[in-house]
Amino acid sequence: MSSVIVIGGGASGLLAAISAKQHHADVLILERNTKLGKKILATGNGRCNFTNVDATEMHYNHPYFVRPVFEQMSPKKTLQLFEQFGITPKIEDEGKTYPLSEQASSIVDVLIYEIERLNIPVKYDAYVTSIKKQDVFEIELQHGERLKADRVILATGGLAMPKSGSDGTGYQLAQSCGHTMTPIFPALVKLELNSPHLKALDGVKFPGTVELIHDGHPVQTETGDVLFTKYGISGPTILQISRKANQLLQEGQSVFINVILVNGPNQRDVAKRFSQLKDRSVEMSLIGLINKRIIHPLLKEVHIDPHVMVKDLSKDKMNTLQQHLFGWSFPIVGSKDFDDAQVTAGGITIDEVNPQTLESKKVAGLYFCGEILDIDGLCGGYNLQWAWSSGFVAGKYASR
Ligand SMILES: Cc1cc2nc3c(=O)[nH]c(=O)nc-3n(C[C@H](O)[C@H](O)[C@H](O)COP(=O)(O)OP(=O)(O)OC[C@H]3O[C@@H](n4cnc5c(N)ncnc54)[C@H](O)[C@@H]3O)c2cc1C
Repeated sequence: MSSVIVIGGGASGLLAAISAKQHHADVLILERNTKLGKKILATGNGRCNFTNVDATEMHYNHPYFVRPVFEQMSPKKTLQLFEQFGITPKIEDEGKTYPLSEQASSIVDVLIYEIERLNIPVKYDAYVTSIKKQDVFEIELQHGERLKADRVILATGGLAMPKSGSDGTGYQLAQSCGHTMTPIFPALVKLELNSPHLKALDGVKFPGTVELIHDGHPVQTETGDVLFTKYGISGPTILQISRKANQLLQEGQSVFINVILVNGPNQRDVAKRFSQLKDRSVEMSLIGLINKRIIHPLLKEVHIDPHVMVKDLSKDKMNTLQQHLFGWSFPIVGSKDFDDAQVTAGGITIDEVNPQTLESKKVAGLYFCGEILDIDGLCGGYNLQWAWSSGFVAGKYASR
């Protein structure tokens, strides 16, 4: 029986350990925390959006690398596995899937149950500081203890939410084995905007559409809840565009967000509305169309006196107002950091890893799974799905 050490008891590491044991390896999990699956508890606002039934490789940054992994452990197979574990799925809009209990702790509970049922030992407070390979792997823990294994699975996550345990040391461990990294940056994260109106807009939430603008063209459009904050903008729509926005910012590009304030009626409908309400003040004419708290900052932005009558607005002013209703543009200047991000974009270079087995091409017997790799997906259950699938595949091959 080959001995496998899994470094990291998060989503991908737990599946890797279960899979390696199911494939008859002698497995040990090393986890720096005193508990397993700490980050899982925070997922899906405590409900754990643990997969997406519509997930395909196309929902990730490198589809060609995800495909062979999904061919072996598809979202459908993952769902079946979790059902065997005892999780009844609740499928919501856009394929997002939660445990019917709506408790992220259910996912952690069934995984721990499985780890215990399979007699997989877990070493807690086991902060790995070095990995070396001669004929076997030698792993050193922070307090000096040394452990040996035939195979190692690196499942230490990325840098998102470091207080959950994923503080990025996994990258250094991989680099010490000769691996390289692509630049990392926070993804699925709130964005910072440059605007004098943020203080007034702070806390305004409304259903809208947002467009990410680069080079004058929309490069991504999302519809749903939008939330202004004192530093910028947040909400599910923003998390979805944040990856592309941050990537472009990293490349030194200028990016803007167009916030479409009117959801539903088109420009002609709104023009008709203004002509019907021409005897009202501009402020009053906007009530019932957009969130009331947006009206004053918006009118300030377009230099229109809120008390002026609609019929007294110049054609130019009316055009400017209408343009802003259908796309108020803000420069994006940054994002919140890894503490607030759901996922890390970038990571261990995938060209150095076999996509079929997830084994390192540099060090035989070293495997990777989860967020440590340069793979990330959209918000909606895709990142955990990658953690489960990649964990399962890494565990399977590490046990051979
Ligand atoms: C707030 C939040 C909400 C999220 N919601 C969702 C969601 O609803 N759906 C979804 O699909 N995705 C969600 N995600 C993303 C998802 O949780 C991650 O992509 C996934 O957990 C990554 O799994 P992982 O195993 O690679 O890493 P992690 O889950 O981060 O696990 C890594 C583990 O390794 C341990 N570790 C790290 N370094 C060492 C070391 N040197 N020695 C020993 N142990 C170490 C850590 O303590 C940790 O337990 C969310 C993320 C966050 C932060």
